[in-house]
Amino acid sequence: AVRVRYAPSPTGLQHIGGLRTALFNYFFARSAGGTFILRIEDTDRERYDERALEDIFDTFRWLGIDWDEGPGKGGDFGPYFQSERRELYEEHARRLVDMGMAYYCFCTPERLEKLRQERGKGKASGYDRHCRNLSQSEVDSMLAEGRPYVIRLKVPLEGETFFSDVLLGDVSYANTDINPDPVLLKSDGFPTYHLANVVDDHLMEITHILRAQEWIPSTPLHVLIYKAFGWEPPVYCHLPMVLGEDGQKLSKRHGATSVLEFRKQGYLAEALVNYVSLLGWSYDDSTEFFSREDLERVFSIERLNKSPAVFDYKKLDWFNGVYIRKKTDEELFELLLPYAIDYGLVSKEPSDEEKKKLLGAVPIIKERLRVLSDVGPMLEFLFKGLPEYEPSMLIHKKSDKQKTLSALEAIKGFLHGYEGRSHDENENGFRELADSLGIKLGLLLMPLRVAITGSTVSPPLLESIYLMGEDEAIRRVDAAYT
Ligand code: GLU
Repeated sequence: AVRVRYAPSPTGLQHIGGLRTALFNYFFARSAGGTFILRIEDTDRERYDERALEDIFDTFRWLGIDWDEGPGKGGDFGPYFQSERRELYEEHARRLVDMGMAYYCFCTPERLEKLRQERGKGKASGYDRHCRNLSQSEVDSMLAEGRPYVIRLKVPLEGETFFSDVLLGDVSYANTDINPDPVLLKSDGFPTYHLANVVDDHLMEITHILRAQEWIPSTPLHVLIYKAFGWEPPVYCHLPMVLGEDGQKLSKRHGATSVLEFRKQGYLAEALVNYVSLLGWSYDDSTEFFSREDLERVFSIERLNKSPAVFDYKKLDWFNGVYIRKKTDEELFELLLPYAIDYGLVSKEPSDEEKKKLLGAVPIIKERLRVLSDVGPMLEFLFKGLPEYEPSMLIHKKSDKQKTLSALEAIKGFLHGYEGRSHDENENGFRELADSLGIKLGLLLMPLRVAITGSTVSPPLLESIYLMGEDEAIRRVDAAYT
């Protein structure tokens, strides 16, 4: 049975690339009837960040992605925090020493530093394997002296290391090109990423490794570690890069990259999951909309793409809009409420009246929302009073001050009784008013829009006046031409 894992290190926020890796593992497990494991790779205590750990949980809670084994879930292969598995790694490192596949290295930091400097003068790169040739009695006496040590892997001095990758096919590395004898166990007893990762993938019976292509250079080394133990490596599937539109690796320069930043801006979880799932995977040549349940059914690694994926923010916006418009007004109201609170449209503990007002305004913004946080600027004029605006904005370029003033004056008279009339009656009324003034309807409504919303772009004007109430609308028109 398929067993896959997402293995984040809590050193930074979850970003789009990591999310894509997690989703592909999750959907692969689901569609194959397998198990999805969350493993926290927290052995690097210097880079460990408590907030990054919280961010992992918050991210997946928000997206509705749940793991079968891992923190808070348990499972037969735990613990799922690497920091709680230290003895296991140490034991395994020693086992490799006993098997003659790894060795104690007592080189001091000073000696290693000197090597590094000499390297610049044309020496071969990396460790010079000095301790690989120590005799057993030399090792024993240094251990007895209590000299600090690390444990290093014996990388074969010749030959090649192969692995086969679902997307890349067969890959081979000359062993002489592999980092000479990388550290497996550090002097503080903590494992390196390489040791912990391989030991856990083996002990947790991981069948497939889906991870970012940036890990490819580590893979031959991992394969050597499996071989040293006499284990079979899992199936590798390195996922192509996620690029920005300029072809560079996706980064902050392109826009938001942290997953929770997208939430903050008002992307819907289902839109993000859907869009990110298409970064390097497709179902066929045309289908683009997939619910999480669809993906849990139809995802397959056979349909992964070999070429890098491009993250297109505009396309995500479009997905988000589509998902927003699938919501009922009530659902959308619930989603918008936190953003309305955040922007100060309504109070922190909104009253029933405030809620009713917001719910009432949902239909006039639904078609235009790109992200949920648009609600603030879009409805500010209704909830926070009239924003300040430049009086010259009232005057259309095809009009003049005098004409604008008489239009506003006529409108003001017409606004009396507005709420008592139907939408159609009001619309016809404005039309007749425009005719009688000899101007186009647009030219009549333009200064009205500015007068009551403070902007030349706004939600539909006639509806907005109902929501605002005719008295307030009249007050704002008054203020505009005095
Ligand atoms: N902890 C590694 C990371 O942060 C895991 C890499 C892997 O999947 O092997 O990405």
